[in-house]
Amino acid sequence: MSKKVLITSRSFGQVSDEPLNILKDNGFEVDFENGKYEEEKFLQVIGNYDALIIGAHEFSQKAVEKANKLKIVCKHGAGTDNIDLKAAKMNNLRVTNVPAVNSDAVADLAFSLMLDIARKVSFAAGEVKKGVWEKTIGIDVCYKTLGLIGFGTIAKKVAKRAGGFGMKVVAYDPYITKVPAELAYVNLVKIEEVLQQADFLSIHVPLNDETRNLIDKKQMEMMKKGSFIINTSRGGIVNEKALFDCLKNGQLSAAGLDVMEKEPPTGNPLLVLNNITILPHIGMYSKEAINAVSLICSQNVVKVLNGQQPENIVI
Ligand code: NAD
Repeated sequence: MSKKVLITSRSFGQVSDEPLNILKDNGFEVDFENGKYEEEKFLQVIGNYDALIIGAHEFSQKAVEKANKLKIVCKHGAGTDNIDLKAAKMNNLRVTNVPAVNSDAVADLAFSLMLDIARKVSFAAGEVKKGVWEKTIGIDVCYKTLGLIGFGTIAKKVAKRAGGFGMKVVAYDPYITKVPAELAYVNLVKIEEVLQQADFLSIHVPLNDETRNLIDKKQMEMMKKGSFIINTSRGGIVNEKALFDCLKNGQLSAAGLDVMEKEPPTGNPLLVLNNITILPHIGMYSKEAINAVSLICSQNVVKVLNGQQPENIVI
């Protein structure tokens, strides 16, 4: 009987047929459940599959318990905070992800959000479409100070782009002690110094118990009045209630978010503010990044179902 692969990632194979063909050419039966995610339906079917390529929806302990045949869960992306890794490990499930490959796409998006909120690009464009032709005044990004929370793969790429803009860059990452030679202009400092110095604060850490609400009211109040926050990492790291208050009272000029605590953010009070740009979690949605991520997921499924070691093992 042929092995079965379930794909719940919505972006898998959107750019080319190559990733799907890799699975088919290996004789696997492939099913897609990539419409609106329904937990009950997912739990009913997961027991039929040998491999899962997953996007952002939850893979809970309940799912692990039902997944009797499953050998591998491939995260179609980098962050694995939607997967119960502890439960997966207890059940000898292999979990892989695809870090780094989409980091240029995310770094581009973080930088575009920075430019967008500095010059009020989305806001002004929206006004023009409503028939309002009025000048908006923003601030320069070049020569300002960029503060990075986290100094991993994506943050380093943001720092590289900031170098091209002549920005001063300070970063906080308690797990990193060295700055690569080509980023010698980046200073690793304490979190308080990043907060106090940054004109633009960009967040690039995983979501976990240590980073949840890492940027809360206290941290926002330590920032310069009128500074900016960009979050392309995960919702929940920047406290949304504090962000709302600081955007309302002028402590922060504006914010750019690709990620929200609850996605989609239906009814979220942040949606009504003019000084925020919110994107539908499109950090890795460049054609180049999606195709590369899909290919690696397919190759990992082939490897594991043929008894070989996959790339990018998380557990
Ligand atoms: P990475 O693992 O290379 O870097 C994360 C860095 O955060 C590491 O250097 C780590 O030491 C640091 N860190 C961990 N805990 C910290 C803390 N408490 N304070 C400061 N630094 C801390 O990951 P990456 O590839 O740079 O990605 C960063 C995050 O971006 C991912 O975890 C993921 O959640 C998110 N991401 C979002 C998208 C998107 O579509 N918007 C796409 C890819 C990744």
